[in-house]
Amino acid sequence: MTETNGVETAELVRYCDHLLQSDRFRDYCPNGLQVEGRDRVARILTGVTACQALLDEALAWQADLVLVHHGYFWKGEPAAVTGIKRRRLKTLLENDLNLLAYHLPLDAHPELGNNARLAKLLGIEVQGGLEPENPLSIGNIGVLSQAQSLARLSVTIEKVLGRAPQTISAGERPIRRVAFCTGAADRMIEQAHALGADAFISGEISEPVVHFAREAGIHYIGAGHHATERYGVQALGEHLARRFGLEHRFVDIDNPV
Ligand SMILES: [Zn+2]
Repeated sequence: MTETNGVETAELVRYCDHLLQSDRFRDYCPNGLQVEGRDRVARILTGVTACQALLDEALAWQADLVLVHHGYFWKGEPAAVTGIKRRRLKTLLENDLNLLAYHLPLDAHPELGNNARLAKLLGIEVQGGLEPENPLSIGNIGVLSQAQSLARLSVTIEKVLGRAPQTISAGERPIRRVAFCTGAADRMIEQAHALGADAFISGEISEPVVHFAREAGIHYIGAGHHATERYGVQALGEHLARRFGLEHRFVDIDNPV
């Protein structure tokens, strides 16, 4: 690995905020620098969620900044800094570790985003957003190069994501037009159906969506919340490493959901 002096934290954060247009999104959490640490960054550790295990990995590797998709301070969570929340914040603050988090802006980015990366991995050619009138639409619709069965697409997904998806079949309907939204976006199946998709892929499914899929005649594929959201943060980490000459490491803290 190359030695590097890194970049000023403030410059890196400004760059990311601008790149991801983070101030344009109405989100459930603050996007950008969530916890301020040291003022220069040479080593970035990325992960899906800023859980304690990821912070411990960051300390062990002597990272300067942790970059995640799921950070802290979610709308509706208790504000008091106690228990697990205290331990996590103490780890960051005591060690001068920066926490940078992007939620919806990292789902939506047309190249580095979770949805864009998933499309690339699964060979889906993106044709538009799930909400066609919304320029900041989260989730997309696209086409596979050739029609295939639910079983065959499931095998591809298992191979690519390393996890067998949960599928709800809508019968023999072949799949060519696929809508998808990473994470916990299963309710967007209604939008996918309205746009004429043969199948909808999201991270995880809730009970009512099983019935919607069967009755509307659209296949549903639950490819894993964690599994579908590993790729945006990695792409952003790699991009930043190249742009600023930093060291980057992605750590996958296993999560079956
Ligand atoms: Zn998520």
